[in-house]
Amino acid sequence: MPKKKFKNDHPLAIFKKSPIHGWGGFARTDIRKGKRIIEYVGEKLTKEEAEKALEDQNCYVFTLNDEFDLDGSVSWNPARYINHSCAPNCKSDVKRDRVWIYAIKNIKKGEELTYNYGHDLDEYLDRLCHCGSENCVGYMVAEEHFDTLKKLH
Ligand SMILES: [Zn+2]
Repeated sequence: MPKKKFKNDHPLAIFKKSPIHGWGGFARTDIRKGKRIIEYVGEKLTKEEAEKALEDQNCYVFTLNDEFDLDGSVSWNPARYINHSCAPNCKSDVKRDRVWIYAIKNIKKGEELTYNYGHDLDEYLDRLCHCGSENCVGYMVAEEHFDTLKKLH
């Protein structure tokens, strides 16, 4: 992918202001369950560089493999705008060192695209969730931690 500012002309997703947080990604058309929607692109980082990025509060770092991470905080990666939700309609998936966002439900045109960022419980109090879903647990954590969190609050 060329390293340039994105044009907001993705065939499946459109990016604009979100009621959840900042900018968000929205379905440009109806999208069927299982469909790959968009690649999450960025700069490859060594583990050392990634650690530094995380210390600098860069929250766009994805684990690729044992050697490299991906820094998605770049202008040519509109997928970074897709918000976290406790009841998401998408999921992220790493295949052959590339990160994809794909639909886990049938999504209607205009719906906001969301996925669970998969954070662990470290510093979860700093990651308030405003996803607005009925079962929002209040913080951005991976689904496997929902029960623990409910017991804590
Ligand atoms: Zn939530």
